[in-house]
Amino acid sequence: MRKKLFAANWKMNLGPKEGVQFCRDFLNLISPDAQREWVIFPPSITLSSIYPILKGSPVKLGGQNCYFEEKGAFTGEISPGMYRECGATYILVGHSERRQIFGESDQICSRKIKLISENGIIPMLCVGETQMERDENQTQDVLKRQLNEGLRFWNPSTPLTIAYEPVWAIGTGKVATPNMAEEAHLEIRKILGQIAGGANRAAEIQILYGGSVKPENSREMMAFPNIDGFLVGGASLVPKTFAQIGQIPL
Ligand code: PEP
Repeated sequence: MRKKLFAANWKMNLGPKEGVQFCRDFLNLISPDAQREWVIFPPSITLSSIYPILKGSPVKLGGQNCYFEEKGAFTGEISPGMYRECGATYILVGHSERRQIFGESDQICSRKIKLISENGIIPMLCVGETQMERDENQTQDVLKRQLNEGLRFWNPSTPLTIAYEPVWAIGTGKVATPNMAEEAHLEIRKILGQIAGGANRAAEIQILYGGSVKPENSREMMAFPNIDGFLVGGASLVPKTFAQIGQIPL
């Protein structure tokens, strides 16, 4: 049975001091629950200051991005092994801001996923179509391409999480309808079945929805069988709001 996973993508917000305050407040608002998992993706510079606070709690830590080499002359980059040393157990790959602003391709995503998995960290691959691609009925093709190419070197026996984030819904206040999200998640699970060699393996993989998630719109979505949680941007910056999303009655 898949657990529900609630992930906070802080993007370039909450430095070390604010991150510590957030985590203290957040831990006071949630209770351990066998059916739920939480993960926070802070800016990398915040990781080491919040790790001691989250250690032993139900909240895991993740990196927002990494490089696809272990070490060397790659100024400004951080390797999966370095994230692991700071307590991260997840790393985001292919967030639409990385794809659009920093030109990250499916091929780059695939190299990152390989190294992340080899380091025993769980990659969370973000996929999703732009507004234009949806208008032109290309959503399925985009998902197929991003998953097939992004997971090219992924070993299906290693853990994986997917975040379906339609680009038009990220930070825009426009949220996919629960039916739209469920339809995309079903498609993703079907493609994962082909990649991972069977529906049974695909059924184990958590698929999160992301895009303008708030306490008000998350409840209805949670009732859909293929929506296994949320990747939350803006609404994850306030402990109370993220806690409300992460504690929706199941
Ligand atoms: C995100 O950054 O992954 C995201 C979904 O952002 P927001 O919730 O602000 O739309």
